[in-house]
Amino acid sequence: MSKHSIRYCGIMLEYTLTRKKVKNINLRIHPDGEVCLSAPQRMTVAEIDAFVSQKAEWIIRHLAEVDRYNRMRPDGALYTGKTVYVLGKAYQVEVAEAAQESILLLPEGRLLLQTPYPEDEDAMKKQYLSWLLAESQAVFAASLERMRTLAAAEAFPMPTLSVRNMKSRWGSCKVPAQKITLNLQLMKADCDCIDQVMLHELVHFKEIHHNEAFYAILSRYLPDWKERKERLETQYKDGIS
Ligand SMILES: [Zn+2]
Repeated sequence: MSKHSIRYCGIMLEYTLTRKKVKNINLRIHPDGEVCLSAPQRMTVAEIDAFVSQKAEWIIRHLAEVDRYNRMRPDGALYTGKTVYVLGKAYQVEVAEAAQESILLLPEGRLLLQTPYPEDEDAMKKQYLSWLLAESQAVFAASLERMRTLAAAEAFPMPTLSVRNMKSRWGSCKVPAQKITLNLQLMKADCDCIDQVMLHELVHFKEIHHNEAFYAILSRYLPDWKERKERLETQYKDGIS
């Protein structure tokens, strides 16, 4: 593995190169923004640089998305002026020193984070995530109630809900254990998007696979599930599917 960089229109693009027994160059951008290339042994660095330069527009566009996504993640750094999303609404963070930890959503879209440790980024992140987790209990329980009522005819079992901060998916359903796990990141999205994920997971109690029957049930109760999913994918995420 080695580090390289090229200049493209005044922008320095860094990439990590790995030599492999491959036919073509493979280019990937990791969730943390690292640009990774694997290239055949025989290819020269000049040839690889030329390839990166050809792909530069795409890389820059992608890095901007990664940056936007990382800024939106609730486990990113918190500081005064940062925008966070809670249930589809944007809030401006205000960090204030106080004897006790507390987080308050104030009118005019302000989120007041009071902490004894205003310099400690990790402590504030932890505080924010545990606050969000606590808030999510009632939000997800209400969504479950709404979706079970909406689709009462399906007589879905009452699952146990668990919440985790995940990077790769919005939710999952363990059918035999009757357990639905939701991504804490869903708390960024509005309730219509949360409901869509909740119903999706509930429908798995009837259909394990994403087949025609699965989508027929989903569409019966949420005919606009696609738009909701689309909104979730475009407004509240990059990289989670
Ligand atoms: Zn599914």
